Amino acid sequence: MKTVVSPAFQKNNFEDKPLLQQLDKIFLTKRKQVFRIPKKGESVILLLSGGLDSTNLWNILMGKYGLHVYPVHFLDPNYFFKGEEESICYYSKVFKELYPDLFHPVEIMRTSSHRLLKTLQSAAVISDIGLVIRNLVYNRESDNYKVSISYETNPFYNYFFNAYAYAQRLRASQAKDLNTIIVGLLPEDTALHRNSTLTVLRSINLSLCTILGDFSWQLTGAIEEDKKFYLPRKVLIKYAINKKINLGHTWSCMENFKIQCGKCGPCVIRRDAFKQMGIKDLTVYQNSLLDRLHHQLSLKKRLFNLLSSLDDRNKNKKINITKSNVGKYYFTPALTIDWTIVSNQVHLFDKKYGEINILNDSGSLLWQHIIKGKNTFHQLLLILKKRYRNQQRLPNDLILFLNNCVNNQSLVLKEKGENNKL
Ligand SMILES: [Zn+2]
Repeated sequence: MKTVVSPAFQKNNFEDKPLLQQLDKIFLTKRKQVFRIPKKGESVILLLSGGLDSTNLWNILMGKYGLHVYPVHFLDPNYFFKGEEESICYYSKVFKELYPDLFHPVEIMRTSSHRLLKTLQSAAVISDIGLVIRNLVYNRESDNYKVSISYETNPFYNYFFNAYAYAQRLRASQAKDLNTIIVGLLPEDTALHRNSTLTVLRSINLSLCTILGDFSWQLTGAIEEDKKFYLPRKVLIKYAINKKINLGHTWSCMENFKIQCGKCGPCVIRRDAFKQMGIKDLTVYQNSLLDRLHHQLSLKKRLFNLLSSLDDRNKNKKINITKSNVGKYYFTPALTIDWTIVSNQVHLFDKKYGEINILNDSGSLLWQHIIKGKNTFHQLLLILKKRYRNQQRLPNDLILFLNNCVNNQSLVLKEKGENNKL
C-alpha cells in the first residue's frame, strides 16, 4: 500500500550508500567497529519527543534490549505542545511500573527548534530552487507540500551537545558506561527526509567525535544496517501492543491544538501505520468541521502568502489562442517547469515562481503526450477524442487548457516552422 505522505520529487530512499560506506570505514579505523549495540544492563540516552516512534523506542530499549534508558526531551518555550507533555507524563508512569529497574525520569531541556515553513518563506531558500524541489514532501490527505529539511544549523548538533552534557553528568554519578545517544528515527523516515538517514547521522557523529577528540561516542537511530538495531514502525507497534500498552496517548501532531489534527504529515503517517497493520488506533483525532476548516485554512494561508509574494506574472501580457489561430502553433514545456507523475497525475513545479500545479486527468493525459512530441492542436485533439465521449466540447476545452498553460507559463507557444529557420 502506498503511504499518503511521500516525497513529491524523490525516490524511495535518501540514503547515500557510497558515502555511508566511506564514513563507516573511518569509524572502523578509529574505533574498530562502526556501531555497537549496548549490552543488557548498559545505559543509553534517548531523545524523546513524546511521539509514537520515540515512545515505542523507549519501551523496546528497556523491554527487549534490557537497557537503562535516560530520556531527554527538548522543550521549545515558543512552540510548547501540551500534548507532548501529557504523553511524557503518561508513559513515564506506565514504564516506571513496567520496568522499575531500567526506568529513569525524563530530563527536560530548553532549546529552540526550527520551524520549517518559516524557513521556506526565506528568499534565500526560494532562490535556490534545486534545494526546494529535491526536498518536498507531499501529504495527499491535506493536499499540501512541505519542505522537509532545515537549512539552518542541523538541530541534531544542538540536541547532541545538550545530550552529551547530560551524559557527562550521568557518567560522573550513575552511568559510567554511557556513550550512546539514540534518536527516534526509524527506517521509514529515511524515505521522507534526507536529514533522517543513517548517512546524515553518521556524518554528524563523525564531526562530533572529531570536535570532542573522542571516537567512543555513538549517535544513531533504529536504522542501523546491522539488523540487531533496525526497527521498522510496525515492529515497534507490535511490541507495544504485546505489552498491552495503549499507544493512543502519544502525541505526533504538528498543530498546536488540544486534540491531534489527524491531517498533518506526522498524524497521517501514524494513522497509516495502524491502518496498514489492521490495529485499532486508539488516538483521538479532531473531526469537527470547524476544526478541520481551521486547519486547512492555516495551511493554505501560509502557502498562499509564500507564493503570492513571488508572483509577478500578472504583469505579463496575456496571449490569446483561438480556434482560428491555434493551428499555427505547437506547444512545449517551458524551461522553468519540472514535473513528476504521482498516481497517474502530473504535478508541475514552476521553478521560477516556486509554485506547484496538479493537472486533472485530461490535463495529465495531454501533458504526457506533449512531452513525447505530440504537441500540435490537432494531435492533442485526436488524443482527447480517443479517450472522451463528449466530442463536441473537446476543441473548446483543449483551447482553454492550452491558453491556461501558456499564460501561466508552463507551456511555451511556438510558431510552426520556427525550428526550420534555426
Ligand atoms: Zn496533526
